[in-house]
Amino acid sequence: MTPNLDPAHLADAVAKLQFRTQAFIDGAFVPAASGRTFPTENPANGQTLAHIAAGDAEDIDRAVQAARRAFQDGRWARLRPAERKQILLRFADRVEAHAGELALLDTLEAGKPITDCATLDLPDTVACLRFHAEAIDKLYDQVAPTGPEHFAWIVREPLGVVGAVIPWNFPIQMAAWKIGPALAAGNSVILKPAEQTSLSALRLAELAAEAGLPAGVFNVVPGFGETAGQALGRHPDVDLVAFTGSTEVGRLFLRYAAESNLKRITLECGGKSPQIVLADAADLDTVAQHAVAAAFWNMGENCSCGSRLLVAEPLREPLLDKIATLARTWTVGDPMDPATRVGALIEAAHLRKVLGYIDAGRREGARLVFGGNQTRQESGGHFVELTLFDQVHNRMRIAREEIFGPVLSVLSVADETEAVALANDTPYGLAASVHTRDVNAAHRLARALRAGTVSINCFSEGDITTPFGGFKQSGFVGRDKSLRAHEQYTELKTIWLQLT
Ligand code: NAP
Ligand code: MG
Repeated sequence: MTPNLDPAHLADAVAKLQFRTQAFIDGAFVPAASGRTFPTENPANGQTLAHIAAGDAEDIDRAVQAARRAFQDGRWARLRPAERKQILLRFADRVEAHAGELALLDTLEAGKPITDCATLDLPDTVACLRFHAEAIDKLYDQVAPTGPEHFAWIVREPLGVVGAVIPWNFPIQMAAWKIGPALAAGNSVILKPAEQTSLSALRLAELAAEAGLPAGVFNVVPGFGETAGQALGRHPDVDLVAFTGSTEVGRLFLRYAAESNLKRITLECGGKSPQIVLADAADLDTVAQHAVAAAFWNMGENCSCGSRLLVAEPLREPLLDKIATLARTWTVGDPMDPATRVGALIEAAHLRKVLGYIDAGRREGARLVFGGNQTRQESGGHFVELTLFDQVHNRMRIAREEIFGPVLSVLSVADETEAVALANDTPYGLAASVHTRDVNAAHRLARALRAGTVSINCFSEGDITTPFGGFKQSGFVGRDKSLRAHEQYTELKTIWLQLT
């Protein structure tokens, strides 16, 4: 289905949008128990879009109780796998049928280009839901190779009540990465979206209910991290929290679990991903295209953003020239304009943080090659120029810390050995890319790089068939996407039978 990105159509569609602003608990939209709301803003113009129910501990508890009831009576967990599959496939169909509307919601709330939301995020969301739905009646348990006097099954059972806490950079897609496998495995779910982006998650819950997902199985409680997020992390009757966000907050979830019921925690956190360009890299135009996409796609607000370019010295100048030329074609503009490649940063505080890193880069002695400034101030939104620093040292803050903005740091390397050493000299390990024509070097580096995804001669996270997650402080057990994602939403049980 090709989305209609005609500007007149988009304007009309925005005018007709109706926002769901209340929490979705036990099959119905309800206000927060406290009656409180919080404003959600359009980062492209600073205007308030809607007031969202501010869920807190009381709402989380109601949602957990509803989810537990639903799990216990088996209205979802004990349906025949083929029936669960049909319902989730209908859900995916409904998301696809409303993809245009959902793309608009994410563009309005997250400042992401409408073209990206409509042609990448929504199709990937639908594919993700379908992939996990399809898996439901194709996964088998195991029989253990015991002696003749015993029979043992190794089975996977749903965990029960699953919390999902997600960030604002890919609102609907992150929701799908969590709820797809969690629901497929038979769990009940409570989703806490990022405070900046609740609208698509709330609409998603309604579409799931329309598709026949029973009440209480999928709940959405919007609200703040410190209140709703923490309440989910500390709730004694939640079996797992699947988290995507910063390493700092991920660490808190481990503490919440330790201090409450030892619920399972899976973390997908930040990154400082290297892009290595060896001296024998093929066509530099192609390398530049991947480098620009890795660094600047989604405004750099991407956990696997390739924010460090480690380039063989002889290629540095010609490659930087090509990157500079190409970056000029990535227009920073109104996210609702289909021609825009780079939209707004999520909020004013985040813009200040990104500008702070740019200042740090200048002060620490890196050479600013292009960008470096706030832009489009007249819009009232939070825009920054695409920015590139050359002559970066791996000890500088811009090389070590996750900026989560369109800022690329370039480090020159002498050879493959130095490239690997610098690439791995980071607390993170989410993604890495390697550009080389030498198949042996590609294999050597793929093995040597400490990262969850290594892409060769491209920047890519793979697709729904491949696991996604990080080494080191980029993650904590578990993987999103692929069949591996199902495992983290289940417990392993051994059933041991004495044969007589
Ligand atoms: P964040 O501040 O860590 O927030 C993520 C989620 O945690 C939000 O729902 C947030 O709620 C909640 N939260 C915040 N403080 C909390 C607390 N004290 N207790 C419980 N929950 C809390 O991250 P963000 O700023 O939204 O997103 C950017 C980060 O996400 C980046 O570091 C990026 O690398 C990471 N990320 C990682 C991946 C991955 O797959 N590895 C993907 C995307 C993003 P609020 O909205 O109220 O803050
Ligand atoms: Mg946050």
